[in-house]
Formats: sequence, C-alpha cells, structure tokens
Amino acid sequence: MAKESKQESGGHEHLTLFIVGAIVLAVVVAIVGPAAFGERFRPLVSAFDVGGEVFLRMLQMVVVPLVMASVMSGILGLGDVRKLGRPGAYAVSYYLSTTVLAVVTGLIVVNIVNPGRGISKELVEDARKEGEETVSHAVGRNDPRKIEWHNVTGDRTQEASVSKNISVPDGGASTIRIVIDQVGNAETAARAQVEWSADGNRFQPAVDGEFVAGTEAGVYRAAAAIPLPEEASYARVAFTPHPATDNTRSIVEAYLVPGPPSIGEIFQNLVLMLFTGNLLGSMVEINLLPLIVFSIVFGGMLTTMGERSKTISDLVVSTNDALMSFILLLMKLAPLGIFCLVAARFSKAQMDGQFLTLLKTQAWYMTTVLTGLGCHALITLPILLWVFTRRNPIEFFNQMSQAILTAFSTASSTATLPVTMECAEKRAGISRRSTEFVLPLGATINMDGTALYEAAAAIFIAQAYAIVEPTFVLTLDKQVVIAVTATLAAIGAAGIPEAGLVTMLIVLNAVGLPLELIGLILPIDWLLDRFRTAVNAFGDSVGSAIVDRSFETVN
Ligand code: ASP
Repeated sequence: MAKESKQESGGHEHLTLFIVGAIVLAVVVAIVGPAAFGERFRPLVSAFDVGGEVFLRMLQMVVVPLVMASVMSGILGLGDVRKLGRPGAYAVSYYLSTTVLAVVTGLIVVNIVNPGRGISKELVEDARKEGEETVSHAVGRNDPRKIEWHNVTGDRTQEASVSKNISVPDGGASTIRIVIDQVGNAETAARAQVEWSADGNRFQPAVDGEFVAGTEAGVYRAAAAIPLPEEASYARVAFTPHPATDNTRSIVEAYLVPGPPSIGEIFQNLVLMLFTGNLLGSMVEINLLPLIVFSIVFGGMLTTMGERSKTISDLVVSTNDALMSFILLLMKLAPLGIFCLVAARFSKAQMDGQFLTLLKTQAWYMTTVLTGLGCHALITLPILLWVFTRRNPIEFFNQMSQAILTAFSTASSTATLPVTMECAEKRAGISRRSTEFVLPLGATINMDGTALYEAAAAIFIAQAYAIVEPTFVLTLDKQVVIAVTATLAAIGAAGIPEAGLVTMLIVLNAVGLPLELIGLILPIDWLLDRFRTAVNAFGDSVGSAIVDRSFETVN
C-alpha cells in the first residue's frame, strides 16, 4: 500500500515536471521558431494549433457529463439533499469573501503602481480605435440589448439623407454608436447627425452629435460614440451619404447602447443564470450553472425514492467513476497537449510581432495585474488554507500543480475542471463529498483572478482616460462602484478564454468610461487571461479543502 502511494506520488511529480518542461519548451519554440524560420514556421504553428485543440476538446468533452454525474453522485453520497445546507452556505461564503478580497487586493495594487499615469495620449487614441471593433461585436450586433441597427448604403441614386427614430430605454445615459464604412473616393464626406427628443416630437441636435467621415480614397471605417442626455426618450440618426462617383459607397451602422444596468438588474441576471428553459441547450453551450442546479434537484429526488431509483443511482455513480478514469488517461496526454496549446498561441503572438513588444509597452499594467494575482495566490489564499485546514500551503500547491498548469495552458476554468477534480481528490486527499460539489460550482462562479483583474484593469483604463479627458475624475465612489461591479461581473463570467474581457464592459459602463478604451488592455489579454485562470482554479481548490471540513460534521 505504502509502496503504491509512493509510486503514485512519484508519477505525479514526473508528470508535473513534464508539464512544466512542456510549457518552457513551448515558449522557447515560440520565440526562436519565427525568428529562425520566418513564414516557413507557420505550417508548424497550424499543426500545434490542431494538437492543442484536440487536447482542449477532449477536456471539454468530459465536462458536462462529469459535472452532472459528480454533483448527483455527491448528493447520493450524502443521502439527503438537506445535508448540503451547511457546506453549501460555507462554500458560497468562501466564494464571495475571497472574491471581495481579490478585488480589494487589485484596487490596492493598481492605486499604488498607477499604471495608467505614464501612458501617452496617442496610445489612448490608438487603443480607442482598436477597441471599437470589439465593442461593436460585444454590445452591437450580437447583443440582445441592441435596440436598433440602421444600415444604409449610399450610392449614386441615393443622395438624400435618411433617418431613423429609436426609442431610448429608461435608466442611465445611453450612447449612440455610429460606424461609417467608406469604399472609394468621396467628393463630399458622408455624415451622420444624432438628435434627441424627450417627447418624440421636438428633436434637437445632440451635443457633439455630428459625425463626419473623411473623403480620402480607399476603404476605411470611422466610428464614434455619441452620448445622449439622460432626459432623452427618443433618438434619431440622420445619415447623408456622400454624392458618389462610380464604385463608391458609404455604409452606416448605428445602434444604441443602453446606459449602465443598475446593480439590481445585474443581480436579476445572476439569478436568472441559475435556471434554464432548455437543459439540452445548456449542455450544448457548456453552461454549467443550470446543470448544477438541475443535478442537485434530480440527485435530491433520487435520494427520496429508495429502491425504485437504485438502477439509476448505480448508473450515476458508475458513470462518475468511469469519467474519473477517463481523466487519468487524459492526463497522460497533458504534456503534449499543453505543449501544443502554448506553442501555438505564443507563436501566433510572436509572429504578429506582438509578444516581446507588448511586454514592453504594457509593462506597468502587466506588472500591476501579475503582482495582484501573485499576492492573492501566494499570500491570501495560503493564509486562508492554513488557518482553516492547517494544511501546508506549499505541499497543497504542489498537489494542485497540474490543475494550475492546465488552467494556465487552456485559459479556461471549465476545461480545467476535470483535472482540478482529479488533483483535489487523488493528490490532495480532499473528500469526494467536497470536490464533487464545491469544484463544479467554484469553476463557474468563483473567479478570484478574474475579479482582481476586472478591478485593476478598470482603474487602469480610468487613469488613462483621465489623460485625454481631464474632466473625468476617478473619485472614491467610482472606485467603490468598480469594486462592486467587478465582483458581480466575475461571478457572471463564464469559465472560458477571455470571458472576463466581455464582462469588463459592465464595469466600464457602470462608471461611464468609454467602452472602446477596452482597446488598452486588449492586446495583452490573452496572456493575462492564463494567469488569472490559474488563480481561479487554485482558488476553487483551496475552497474545496476549506469546505471539506464542514462536511466532517455531516453524517
Ligand atoms: N478565462 C477565465 C476562466 O476561464 C475567465 C476570464 O477571466 O476570462 O476562468
């Protein structure tokens, strides 16, 4: 027995070393490869991409059945769903308090380092342009909150101006975003004029509401965000395409971005996220929260049915065991899969000329986020672990290392979940009762790294914005709003790559920062995402170790 566990831990250490080696090798390959082989390196990058994607998909493949089987078998193990009450309350308290601690850490570090201060006006303006595209995708075409999209093509026959009325929802001040795409040479610039009205009859021009595209030849895109006053109930966009010569076109898109949702609305959305009208749809989208809720209720039902549900209960427990063995097999492929994932992503960045340059231009912002994440993962969480469980944090870190490295490589807590469960149970010796329930829930709602990053990044953006817009002052109450919305945004973020970037828009919107300034943090986000996901996964595992103690009192 002793020999067996020694062998097992030796195997674990080897595997961890292989994974670390794979990551280091992948980064070296990504830096040296493009420099040595130039464009000839691209086919190899595509091959790494496929290899990494296969590994990622294999992890994702087990997530949905694993979460459902493990939560149900966890409830079956407890024998009564009511026994979940106390550990459940502990788990939720842990998730919330560590998320708040992470946000506070982020705020302290960003206020000390002040990464936005030294940034140049040009960089802020460039970032605005870059961010526009992302915002259009995130809150424009694909956003269910989009109220209107108005798309007009101007050509020779259409010289008159066209306009469209939009009704503005109640709440904070909304913004009209306008994008003019121009193809060819224009004699007169295309222009869009935003007007607003409180009653729908008398319209007046919005302040700075005229947006004029250029007349240069070529293909280009110009965009503007025009704020509406709070009393606006209707808005109108009038668009005058330029009198065109042959083969020239102007296309305008205008849509309304509603003002910031209230804290109440954000809460409402979080509550709704727990439920689904379509269980299969949630499975397809790997949307775990409603699946966990369903599994708790279904598992609870099974415990009340006695012998009648024995077949299905046995099936659930065996499925769970089989899936855990499947994960063991997957871990054998981890060094190769992780090498491919990291080599492909870092090589792409290097070949686009981003990687080393970005490290220089975004150095202070990166230092801020990494220092904050480091404090949380290496100070706050270890202290909590020791205080509540008396476990040795270094040993625990080592036991969870494969999960942390997988999180770094996949940038997805959800895809890492199978590995986190495996390490927590088999290596760290946390009881199944805790891992089966605390980890799936943690992977979806407990995101300490994401919360810390959202707070730090929002303040960084605010500092940079104050450089181009001196009237914007980052007051203490704005910092409090950022802290609250960052906490909620992290809870709502999905455990997938760069999900935090999308929920970041909620935080920016809440304090009236221009959404397109997200361009400031965009280029480096893929890299920081990996670090925050690693912290997310580690935070979940510390949580399952701490909550494990509360199961000890449950019989
Ligand atoms: N990628 C992160 C995760 O999966 C979420 C985020 O912060 O973007 O945990």
